[in-house]
Amino acid sequence: MTAELWIASGNRKKRAELERLLAPLGYRIRTLDEAPPGIELIEDRPDFAGNAEVKATTLARAVRGYALGDDSGLCVDALGGEPGVRSARWAGESASDADRIAKLLAAMAGRADRRARFVCSLCLAAPDGSVIARFEDRCEGLILEQPRGSSGFGYDPAFAPLDQPAWSEPPAHRNLSSFAELDAVAKDRISHRGRALRRLLTHLSSHPLAPTP
Ligand code: IMP
Repeated sequence: MTAELWIASGNRKKRAELERLLAPLGYRIRTLDEAPPGIELIEDRPDFAGNAEVKATTLARAVRGYALGDDSGLCVDALGGEPGVRSARWAGESASDADRIAKLLAAMAGRADRRARFVCSLCLAAPDGSVIARFEDRCEGLILEQPRGSSGFGYDPAFAPLDQPAWSEPPAHRNLSSFAELDAVAKDRISHRGRALRRLLTHLSSHPLAPTP
């Protein structure tokens, strides 16, 4: 019998990344679309870890299954850590990725300090809603002056991760690719979500989920 893992995220593209990274475990991945209607995953905590926990424990209890919550976002030093936990809603509830990127690039116009990081917090919850484990990781980078590339999602075109070969070649960040210029495998290798997920995978390889009866 196969174990099931519910993904507590309504963001289709983020979910696709999680599913891709979880694939080696062979679990049956279940998504919010399959859950009973009316489950509200309310992100009202002040930090990524708190929001990941609310998402995982709420869904686990509702479906009586193992659930993985992910909360992630972009923290920009020159903006005092904004958009941070508000990354999805920063430019308003109905804003598009393009609107959010436009707001970010306008806020960063003329600034010399372009340091930023993506953070991903994961929480794994048991069918009774208790927390099994938490994992968090980050990806350091720079905010570009113009968006570049079309793959990925969210703020990807505006963010250049530092952990890539071009960083060591002068003239430094002119050669850096944005997240949206990397293919999925290259992004997963260095991204905040890829790193946090690999911690989860290591945990699950020694503490596998029980098969669903
Ligand atoms: P939430 O975790 O569902 O609250 O959404 C996090 C938001 O942060 C997303 O909607 C994106 O705007 C942004 N974000 C998180 N991870 C990434 C990423 O890997 N690339 C680009 N944007 C991201």
